[in-house]
Amino acid sequence: MYNPRFEKDVFKRDVRNNVKTLFRKEVEEATPQQLFQAVSYAVKEAIIDDWLATQKQYEKDDPKTVYYMSMEFLLGRALGNNLINMTAYKEVKEALEEMGIDLNVIEDQEPDPALGNGGLGRLAACFLDSLATLGYASYGCGIRYRYGMFKQKIRDGYQVEAPDNWLKDGNPFELRRPEYAKEVRFGGNIRVEYDETGKTHFVQENYESVMAIPYDYPIVGYGNHIVNTLRIWDAEAIVDFQLDSFDRGDYHKAVEQENLAKNIVEVLYPNDNHIAGKELRLKQQYFFVSASIQAAITKFKKKHGDISKLPEKVTFQMNDTHPTVAVAELMRILLDEENLGWNEAWDITTKCCAYTNHTIMAEALEKWPIDLFSRLLPRIYQIIQEIDRRFVEQVRAQYPGNEEKVKKMAILMDGQVKMAHLAIVAGYSVNGVAKLHTEILKNQELKDFYQMMPEKFNNKTNGITQRRFLMHANPLLADWVTEKLGTKEWITDLSKMSGLKEWLDDEEALKEFMTIKFKNKERLAAYIKEHNGVEVDPRSIFDVQVKRLHEYKRQLLNILHVMYLYNQIKDHPEMSFYPKTYVFGAKASAGYIRAKEIIKLINSVADVINNDRSINGKLKVVFIEDYRVSNAELIFAAADISEQISTASKEASGTGNMKFMMNGAPTLGTMDGANVEIVDEVGIDNAFIFGLSADEVINYEQNGGYNPYDIYNNDPDIRRVVDQLVDGTYANGDKEMYRDLYNSLLNNQGGARADMYFILKDFRSYADAQARAMEAYKDTDKWAKMALKNTACCGKFSADRTIQEYVDDIWHLDHVVINEDELEY
Ligand SMILES: *Cc1c(COP(=O)(O)O)cnc(C)c1O
Repeated sequence: MYNPRFEKDVFKRDVRNNVKTLFRKEVEEATPQQLFQAVSYAVKEAIIDDWLATQKQYEKDDPKTVYYMSMEFLLGRALGNNLINMTAYKEVKEALEEMGIDLNVIEDQEPDPALGNGGLGRLAACFLDSLATLGYASYGCGIRYRYGMFKQKIRDGYQVEAPDNWLKDGNPFELRRPEYAKEVRFGGNIRVEYDETGKTHFVQENYESVMAIPYDYPIVGYGNHIVNTLRIWDAEAIVDFQLDSFDRGDYHKAVEQENLAKNIVEVLYPNDNHIAGKELRLKQQYFFVSASIQAAITKFKKKHGDISKLPEKVTFQMNDTHPTVAVAELMRILLDEENLGWNEAWDITTKCCAYTNHTIMAEALEKWPIDLFSRLLPRIYQIIQEIDRRFVEQVRAQYPGNEEKVKKMAILMDGQVKMAHLAIVAGYSVNGVAKLHTEILKNQELKDFYQMMPEKFNNKTNGITQRRFLMHANPLLADWVTEKLGTKEWITDLSKMSGLKEWLDDEEALKEFMTIKFKNKERLAAYIKEHNGVEVDPRSIFDVQVKRLHEYKRQLLNILHVMYLYNQIKDHPEMSFYPKTYVFGAKASAGYIRAKEIIKLINSVADVINNDRSINGKLKVVFIEDYRVSNAELIFAAADISEQISTASKEASGTGNMKFMMNGAPTLGTMDGANVEIVDEVGIDNAFIFGLSADEVINYEQNGGYNPYDIYNNDPDIRRVVDQLVDGTYANGDKEMYRDLYNSLLNNQGGARADMYFILKDFRSYADAQARAMEAYKDTDKWAKMALKNTACCGKFSADRTIQEYVDDIWHLDHVVINEDELEY
């Protein structure tokens, strides 16, 4: 793909000029951060050309557009990725080298825009990349949080949260668009008016409001000149905080609106798979949803007169229930502003909105107290009441006399608004994110809805973008893949990776593949040395678990097993043991106490083991601070083993599992989420599978759990590690530090079952899988083949495949092409 701005002399001149105009400096005097800014602005200029061309093409073709509504976009750094997708990475790297600038150092200056918690937000970011790359018109819609995901520091083994002031040096790629601002209203009351024709009007009065100001981010497609937009909203007060407010007597109101605006976009809630239930969170939801839907309608109406045609041109995808107020907001606009009747408005809404379910865990299912909800969003609540009234009527018609059904399915029940029910009732599509997850939705969690409206339910197994997680994260492997396949087609068609199978029996190729892995392990070892001060041996097995800290993800199982291995090594110093490095990375939600205890335990175990000279470095444990997209990229490339050990049925899909697979790390995991499909692709012999199945877990749960003492009393190795939680071994003699973890494994506590996540139940089977993996690793050739097989079989897990399925089955978007010959630079 050609762009004259990336010709070396042109680009170098632009960078020099930018350093001058931005900082009044010469390149040689500029700091790395200043160079990052100057380079980014030079790249942005090239992007803007294509952004304009894309708008022009969309204006001409008038394609259907998806609005991907998400509270989170975990973007990761933009500079490197934009260069890759503009197909200019290598040219720019060389141009900068000629100026004495190292692109990698420049890239490291960029803060990670961490506008998300984990998998859900990263999925949204991967989807935007794929939408642009496949040539589909789309907007990401979200919030421009002033503070993204907190920065994690480890102090004395404990997680400490520090604010992530990611905007402090400015943000080169974004564009403020005040001309597209929208007002969003909260609270007050609804007055009913009748006009001369007798028609009813609903007027919101005594409300507070804020101005939503959009910031647009370019989302660059790979090699196709398409640049889509991520539109994230900032909030500003509507009334200027000015002196004459005093005179008008609305000083308090001015202050309140100022504070409301400031608070709404202040911070991302750091909960993953867990609801906070805070009023401010609901405000955030309505804020970005209302602004996004208003903007979408304005844009549609500018081009099309007839609002009833909205479903032909627009679709709103709700990423989990967080944006579900969208259905009521769309109804409000159609009813109150477009003056449609209920049936017509409902017909349009139910053809425009679709819902993705991400979890079945009770603590993550969004419910809002009706009193809070109706006070904050009085008109939206009225509309939901009417949606609920009509839906309940339908349930009663279909299941006469069955009030149990009504209780289970109603949107409003027991003083709560159930957001998932609203999303299912109003959405034309309900999708799960992996096959197993979708089956559990249909047969267990959402069974009643599935029986009533089976046509809505479908599966879209998640995916990841190979542009970031292979090309950018692992350039050595990316080049090797291109060389071996003899083509770059895999960059936009990941199914081409299967061509690597031809090299599975080629000793030379396997050696090259493992040499690349080794170099990536050296790169990670250097990072660990720099950040943790711990020496790890790149020849040891890198066994990695990186993901949010959650009990269902079972980092506790992993660290208990490390404790078990350490006991074994101490008891039998002569036993055959391949050196292992256990790598952890995980943030815990700030209020999730047990998750934080697990982080402390991991660090305590690391301290004891890493400082025990008697085991000759056979075992190392590393906790990587502040796990985020930028260091994730280093970690996936360097992993030998991918730990995906959630309690079966709990992990809806997982996407980390796919990143590891792509980078040649076999999965050690349970048959959960997309692990099932990974095993389908790579073959059971190229993974290490253990533990209860989802059916078995669900069965136990429906029968009150199991008795962990049966295991504790009968397996001395397990009893020993459990007891080590309360004998002071990992707490400098303190027997109480990990008492809560100990109790969680053995004893019922209030409502919580003992060992809710089946850690002791799965322990033996996990230890066996670990042992099998170590045996396999010892056979170098066999291991290389297994690792390469994983890379060769990752084709299905591209987000490009996922997005094409969304397009074919749910969105029905039009493919757009920009003809390079028609571009005017
Ligand atoms: C992929 C990714 C996740 C999701 O990981 P899972 O293992 O699927 O939970 C979370 N955080 C970051 C930074 C990621 O890149």
